[in-house]
Amino acid sequence: MREINNIVILTGAGISAESGVATFRGPDGLWEGHRVEDVATPEAFARDPDLVQKFYDERREKLAGVAPNAAHRALAKLDRLWSGELLLVTQNVDDLHDRAGSERLVHMHGELRSAWCSRCGERSKFEGKLAFDPACPRCDEFGGLRPDIVWFGEMPYHMDKIEAALARCDLFVSIGTSGAVYPAAGFVRTAGHYGARTLEMNLDPSEGSIYFNESQMGKAGELVPAWVEGLLKT
Ligand code: NAD
Repeated sequence: MREINNIVILTGAGISAESGVATFRGPDGLWEGHRVEDVATPEAFARDPDLVQKFYDERREKLAGVAPNAAHRALAKLDRLWSGELLLVTQNVDDLHDRAGSERLVHMHGELRSAWCSRCGERSKFEGKLAFDPACPRCDEFGGLRPDIVWFGEMPYHMDKIEAALARCDLFVSIGTSGAVYPAAGFVRTAGHYGARTLEMNLDPSEGSIYFNESQMGKAGELVPAWVEGLLKT
């Protein structure tokens, strides 16, 4: 088996579930009571900007009441102590990996605490409510800010960096993601194609489970700290 130096870790909504952040598709197939098509597409924003702004304003506001859990903290510890290459790719728009202390981190689907101005094209750190239509902190124009979230049909961020890391990694680990959203759902096959070992940790088998060398089923808050401790001992 190839020695492990370079690691890519993909996380999804499941890693934040034990912190109290709702996952994407609950048992009812809805995201916090909304159909995905009504809140997570550019068409939805064009049709009803007020509803979409309020939806993400509520998600942003709720971040103040949640905290990183044992899984976020374990990945931050791994980031601190792992001397090889490591890239943590999160699909999450919450900031729990950042607050836990992960630094080698990219948010491929954007961030709730960021806003994107369609007038000047710039992104800015943002707290508060976009539904109040504040001025852009960069260009001072009103009416241009939208959530800095990658919606269905839009291009995820950092793809060049992610693809380069996938081609170099010896181990690819997927945590708390249903494997239903592309291109992230395809990363396991890309990493496997380049010879990496692949491991998933999820509450139940994801849609791409068959592509992983190993699947561990259970809660991220229990599985991830145990896996990190084991890896740091090797
Ligand atoms: P998803 O909701 O489709 O899947 C979550 C997966 O996590 C499920 O397979 C579920 O079984 C598993 N899971 C639930 N609780 C778990 C736990 N305690 N431990 C381990 N696994 C657990 O989420 P996804 O695959 O990330 O795709 C959703 C999209 O929704 C992403 O694009 C993301 O941007 C967005 N989203 C983000 C957040 C967030 O930032 N926390 C929340 C909801 C949605």
